[in-house]
Amino acid sequence: DVGNVADYLRDHIRTVPDWPQPGVMFRDITPLLHNPRTLRVLIDVFVHRYMEAKLDLVAGIDARGFILGAIVAYELNLGFVPIRKKGKLPYQTVTEEYELEYGSATVEIHADACKAGDRVLLIDDLIATGGTMMAGRRLLERLGAEVVEGAAIVDLPELGGSAQLLASGLPLFTVCRFD
Ligand code: AMP
Repeated sequence: DVGNVADYLRDHIRTVPDWPQPGVMFRDITPLLHNPRTLRVLIDVFVHRYMEAKLDLVAGIDARGFILGAIVAYELNLGFVPIRKKGKLPYQTVTEEYELEYGSATVEIHADACKAGDRVLLIDDLIATGGTMMAGRRLLERLGAEVVEGAAIVDLPELGGSAQLLASGLPLFTVCRFD
């Protein structure tokens, strides 16, 4: 009996206090990826949710969103689009800057990564303030795509990001939460 699937997966996420800086509880998904059973259950949760969603593409956010997003795309017989940190993509890009707790960050997508009307699933590992997911969504929408849903393994609801994303009209799916 594995009990609830979300609890089973959550039990394989490691919390590292004060990393990368004091006060941050880092939710480390590497144990979830390392264990072949939890990796399979995790991927199957996403595949099951989206197999009938009539998607055109999966977009993943640098860097842990690449791991999850690429496997999910493969399993759904879809292509994969990377949304990268600034300066990594070689071709013509579209760029979005967003605020972090300390400073700002920039994400980019190739200008030809999707076309108008494409139905895209946007994937990252975790939603904290929601800034990263929001910036990724804006990039896709600037290319004319429809972001069908934002999906992540972990939600940190106390930071308010998921509530803000939902309030802005983006449907969200997260597997588990840390309060
Ligand atoms: P945010 O833009 O604030 O929603 O932050 C989400 C992004 O930062 C994701 O790409 C996460 O990988 C990373 N992140 C933020 N906070 C944490 C945390 N406590 N543990 C692990 N990753 C985090």
